[in-house]
Amino acid sequence: MKKCKGKTVFKAKGGRLVDCEKCGYIHVLPMYTEAELEEFYKHEFSESTPSPNWKDKVQNICKWKKGGTVLDIGCWEGTQLEYFIKKKGWKCTGIELNKKAARKARRKGIEVQEMSVREFFEKFKGRKWDVINVAYVLEHIIDPYSFMVSLKDHLKKGGIAIIEVPNEFNPFQLAYLKKHKVEPYWVSLPTHLNYFNKEGIEKLVKKAGWKVAHGEMSFPMEMFLLMGDDYRKKPVMGKTCYKKLLKMQDTLRTFDEGLVSKFHSSLFSAGIGRSTMLYLKKK
Ligand SMILES: [Zn+2]
Repeated sequence: MKKCKGKTVFKAKGGRLVDCEKCGYIHVLPMYTEAELEEFYKHEFSESTPSPNWKDKVQNICKWKKGGTVLDIGCWEGTQLEYFIKKKGWKCTGIELNKKAARKARRKGIEVQEMSVREFFEKFKGRKWDVINVAYVLEHIIDPYSFMVSLKDHLKKGGIAIIEVPNEFNPFQLAYLKKHKVEPYWVSLPTHLNYFNKEGIEKLVKKAGWKVAHGEMSFPMEMFLLMGDDYRKKPVMGKTCYKKLLKMQDTLRTFDEGLVSKFHSSLFSAGIGRSTMLYLKKK
């Protein structure tokens, strides 16, 4: 993280967030060390929100490829891979550092390698996959650029990598902050070291030698906040809002299988949504 500098966007507990001129996205400074983070995740980390978009991801991938090998880096309990297994024709491997989560994934019959991202790149040199999924990883790691460069060595020719990151400092969040005069509630250190909006994540992947074949953003949950369903102040409301979202998406999918994905593509153009999903090919 040498030569990282930029305007401070927020002074948080645990570090200063800067809009880094070198990296092109917001990250913490000073950066945490590898040892600090590995220790943190081995014992403390427990985040397990299945994404309502994982089914669509498999469907989108199947437009390009009908089967092959899939690697899920940071597979947690294997929820994303289960959707691939249901489709048949996919051979799935997961990488997961958290012991409990890895055990759960194995119970589902998924091959899981229990290791950190660093160990993965060391031990799996030369092994390639048709599809690589990296959901909710880049915001947690020290050097997403090197990660994205190394990832290219593991993707087969014509393969697809899917990156998913939270869309942070997005316009809907900023509008909420301005209206309610609060601090960026989504900042959480050392869990999230990097904060990508549309521009930030696109800059990163392009610089690392990828091209965006397709982009989507998931439903902007901040809309609930803006409409007064303040799950931030009343966390119990979060569940209600999530259920509402699922209800809507189910109705849309029953009507037209590709409709949710179409909706998410239009959100991506506007840079509005809770998470960004990029379908990448090697340049
Ligand atoms: Zn930087």
